[in-house]
Amino acid sequence: MALKFCQGPDCHKHKTKDRIKGTQGNKTYQTRRRSSFYYGNDNFCSTWCQNDWFNKYGDLAVDHFGRVTTAKHLTQDNAWVKDYNWRSNDVGHDYYYVNGITKEQRPLTKEQYNDSNYTLNTGE
Ligand SMILES: [Zn+2]
Repeated sequence: MALKFCQGPDCHKHKTKDRIKGTQGNKTYQTRRRSSFYYGNDNFCSTWCQNDWFNKYGDLAVDHFGRVTTAKHLTQDNAWVKDYNWRSNDVGHDYYYVNGITKEQRPLTKEQYNDSNYTLNTGE
């Protein structure tokens, strides 16, 4: 499995023993390298490094992808949420959509439930 580096800009400055690498007399603290990371969508070795990244780049990222400048509204057009009932006496789940505003329920197939592109919502 390919190893990748923690994306924390100061990962190498957090002095832990596991970050010390190199030959005797030539050791340095180095950015952590792993096959996978637990934090920040598999990009950071710790919340410390994740926070370092956000403190350094967060404003740039928010501006790049679009800063929220007005309130968003949850209405009946975008309040549909997938849910299911567990039927203990039967073969499986009852899947359905429920509207968080009107409380209306509509049945879903298992395929529709699992399809992340399938939605009844027409707004953000
Ligand atoms: Zn790190």
